[in-house]
Amino acid sequence: MTVRTRFAPSPTGFMHVGGVRTALFAWLWARKHNGQFILRIEDTDKVREVEGSIGHIMESLRWLGIEWDEGPNVDGPHAPYIQSERLPLYRRYADKLLMGGFAYPDPYTEEELEALRQKAEDEKRPFLYREHRPETEMEWDGTTALRFKAPFIKRYTWHDEARGELTAGEEAVDDFILLKADGYPTYNFCHVVDDIEMEVTHVMRGEEFISSTPKFLSLYDALEMKPPVYVTMPSILGPDGHKKLSKRDGAKDILDYKTEGYLPEALMNFLALLGWNPGTDQELFTPTELIEAFDISRIQKSGAMFNDEKLLFMNQQWMRKLSDREFIKKGNLEAADMERLERAIPVIKERAHTFGDAREMITGELSCLFLRPTLDPAVLLAKDPKDPNLGEPSYTQVILTTLAEALESVEMTSVETVKESLMGIADANPKENGGRGAVLWPLRYALSGQERSPDPFSLIYILGKEESILRIEEALGILE
Ligand code: GLU
Repeated sequence: MTVRTRFAPSPTGFMHVGGVRTALFAWLWARKHNGQFILRIEDTDKVREVEGSIGHIMESLRWLGIEWDEGPNVDGPHAPYIQSERLPLYRRYADKLLMGGFAYPDPYTEEELEALRQKAEDEKRPFLYREHRPETEMEWDGTTALRFKAPFIKRYTWHDEARGELTAGEEAVDDFILLKADGYPTYNFCHVVDDIEMEVTHVMRGEEFISSTPKFLSLYDALEMKPPVYVTMPSILGPDGHKKLSKRDGAKDILDYKTEGYLPEALMNFLALLGWNPGTDQELFTPTELIEAFDISRIQKSGAMFNDEKLLFMNQQWMRKLSDREFIKKGNLEAADMERLERAIPVIKERAHTFGDAREMITGELSCLFLRPTLDPAVLLAKDPKDPNLGEPSYTQVILTTLAEALESVEMTSVETVKESLMGIADANPKENGGRGAVLWPLRYALSGQERSPDPFSLIYILGKEESILRIEEALGILE
């Protein structure tokens, strides 16, 4: 049996972590078994539809690398994959149910239905439509809603691959609407038709569908079809570990992560571990490793906590795996001097958790790498060990002159070689003359104009010999 999974979003807005995590698990399972992953758009509720969401869903999945084998744009043997384009199929299934005695036209007006509902509420009973099945059924002319006539009013028990045995009593079985008066099918009906038609073997979705599963099972019974394997996803919890993740906690549009400069591989890695674990300590997984390691038997039952910091940590790990060139390219990084930027990447890699951070650093805390700083003589002299003698150069001036001279012959192959060539001057500076600090402080400040910056050797390596010497000379200039 070929494993066929599907992701069936409704185009009602942007994709958030919950939706994408479901898509990811379904995709991983299909890939693991060399099966197929289907994208199906469930757009039969035209009232809730939000314009542009279909494109948005596809863009989000593509960005993450969750490619579908069948679905909009790629088609496949069961095309079309957009439910509103499949109406004749649902009508055929409705006819089949009608012929088999498993459907009937809804004889009630909205008001009558409301009155029945109200009565049940007044009597503190759950409202069950099936208790009001009409005694004589009208002929269905296609202008009224068509209801399902549940064949077995019984307790259903089924196996969920993630939750184990689940069960619900007969109150969970009812005569739900198959087709609405406008001819559009309900979700309850058409997703079952499509899962059958598209030969879906595993249905993965959120726990909000558990309570309706008996309805779906009774439809499978009426159609004499075998239901798919159900796999319920754990819910995603906010940082308090109790409440479901809300927008405030970070349940944002997946494409916002793209804008903020997260790597899709990192987000995929993070989402995979939201409710699944490999059973080992491994945390970082490439998509290929995920496909290999993923197993629905290790999907947890309880909610998975969304931890922003872990996502940032993972993203940083993934960013660090990139070569410096790739880092610039993937991060769309730009600076006035691209060669200097490339040399600065190790420093950025150390600090940035997202490419958004990296971009901010280039124009913010690391802007001194690209723009010559304005220096404050008082700060430059902050670690000068001696009182100035009128007419004589300060100790800092002497030090900076020595450094500028030494720099001429420094080996610029790496930060390490720069450090090896210059550290000796700092080490040799006697304690009574301020030790290393009296050398490294003015050097670093002359180069960066900042009280906090990367170390001076990294600065020299990034700026290059010529620019470094120039900056030191400028610093000497303001001390004259
Ligand atoms: N269209 C449903 C939703 O977006 C899909 C549920 C399912 O996977 O069956 O919630």
